[in-house]
Order: sequence, then C-alpha cells, then structure tokens
Amino acid sequence: MDTQMQETHREKEENSPKLWCLEDFEIGKPLGKGKFGRVYLAREKKSKYIVALKVIFKEQLEKYRLQHQLRREMEIQNTLDHSNVLRLFGWFHDADRIFLILEYAHRGELYKLLKKYGHLPEKQAATYIASLTEALAYCHQKHVIHRDIKPENLLLDFEGRLKIADFGWSVQSTSKRRTMCGTLDYLAPEMVENKAHDYAVDNWTLGVLCFEFLYGFPPFEAENQTDTFKRIIKVDLSFPPTPHVSVEAKNLIVRLLVKESSKRLPLPKILEHPWIIKNADPKGTFNEQ
Ligand code: AMP
Repeated sequence: MDTQMQETHREKEENSPKLWCLEDFEIGKPLGKGKFGRVYLAREKKSKYIVALKVIFKEQLEKYRLQHQLRREMEIQNTLDHSNVLRLFGWFHDADRIFLILEYAHRGELYKLLKKYGHLPEKQAATYIASLTEALAYCHQKHVIHRDIKPENLLLDFEGRLKIADFGWSVQSTSKRRTMCGTLDYLAPEMVENKAHDYAVDNWTLGVLCFEFLYGFPPFEAENQTDTFKRIIKVDLSFPPTPHVSVEAKNLIVRLLVKESSKRLPLPKILEHPWIIKNADPKGTFNEQ
C-alpha cells in the first residue's frame, strides 16, 4: 500500500504540477491537535490508503515566521525513507492552510504509553532504543541531525514499531518555545551551552531517552530550567535505587551521557551493546501484554 501511495504520488508529479488536493481525500476523525493546527485520519480516495493529514494554518506560520523553516524541513522529511522514520508522502495548500500527508501511526504517541505505565520494561525500552539508533544512523548518513528527539516526537504504528515524527519543523518550532518556557531535558551539553554541535547530540539524547524509558523521568530533571541546565553541563547523573533496572542498561546510559561529544558511544556500537543484543526485538516491534 505504501508503494501504491508513492506511485500515485509519482504519477501526479509527472502529470500535474499541482500534485495533491483536499478532494483526493476522505477525511475521518481528528487524531490530535498541535500548535499550528489539527491532525486528521484520512483516506486517499484512489488507492484507499490510510494516512494522517496534518492541517497547518498559514496565518499561524506567518505569525511565527516559520514558512521557510517548514519548507526546508518538509523537503528533508520527504527524502527520508526508513521504517522507523514517519513518512511524509507529500503536501499541498489552499488559500489559508497547508496540508501534510503523513504516514498514520495507529498507536499514537510513545509519551502516552510512558505516562500510562510510569516506565517501560527493559525489552520494550531496548527495542525502542535500537529502532531509534537505526533511524538515526540512516539520518546521519543522509546528513540530517534531528536534534529534537523526545518522547512526544515518537509515534508507534499498528505493530508497535517506533517512528520518529516531526522532522521536525513543528517540533523545532514548538520545542523552541518549550525550551524557553519548559524543558531542556533532552538537549546535549554543547547545545545548552550554545556551542558548535554535530551528530553526537543525537547520541546524547539516546542516553537521556534510555534513562527516561526505564525510570519514567529524564535524568537531569530539576525544579527549573537553570537547574536542569547546570545538571546537564555537569553531567550530574545518578541512578535511583530501583531494583528493576539492570547493570547493562546503566552501562549503556553512562556510555552515552558523556560530556565530550567525540567520546560518546557511536551508533553502530549501541547496536552491538550487550543490553541491546539481549533485550531488543530484532523485528523492532513490541506488543504490550
Ligand atoms: P502534532 O501537531 O504533530 O503535535 O500532532 C498533534 C497530535 O496528533 C499528536 O498528539 C499526535 O498524537 C497526533 N498525530 C500527529 N501525527 C500523527 C500521525 N502521523 N499518526 C497518528 N497520530 C498523529
């Protein structure tokens, strides 16, 4: 079906400069609401392919001067084709709105799962970390650094496969706001200190996420932004005395949360780490009991 959607897209690209329009879709239930608009379940009429249609109001974009950023990020996401990266199939617009045709992630946000269960079992956490590592290795190969991975940006498909979403104009933009009025939790020290940074910022974030999946809160959480900032730059890491987290898991976290970016465990080595080998599902899917 995925291929069918792409073929219809290609056909349209060849035959008409206009590509998609709203009439190509039957619109279903709302899936959620973001800062710039809403996301709906939708079905492409010709292929019957189910997608998520994200509707963004141009006025909002203009207000925050994000039109160029949106275009750049859509072009990036459109070139990415990996089973752990949410597909952006295409986009179109009318006078007031921009529509993004996105892969539908049936099980929604990983964040909600984490909130529901408090923390995740090691097998589930390791499966997600391995999927994320593979997705990031693919992105890095294509010279894309995500820089803004956090549980809210991670969606799950109908098989429980993790998908990195929001590559990440909306997230970059909302996250800037979140950063100003909320969390710095996922940012690497070189980013909070506003220094030059490279691909290794994503490796740091993997360490933060691994900790959060297993304990239910990020490692440098603090009362306020200044204290989080201080904890990140000091790498003030300590493990709560919870018996359910293994020594191997902690070892992986310690090897990722390293201040010196070049000393962080490289992505291929994460996939070879004993905790990942022992716990991650090779198919990258996880079904809750
Ligand atoms: P966003 O504007 O990206 O923050 O999305 C708003 C809400 O819509 C989120 O709470 C997501 O759960 C939901 N959502 C966004 N994209 C998708 C998608 N591709 N598949 C399923 N749900 C989505």
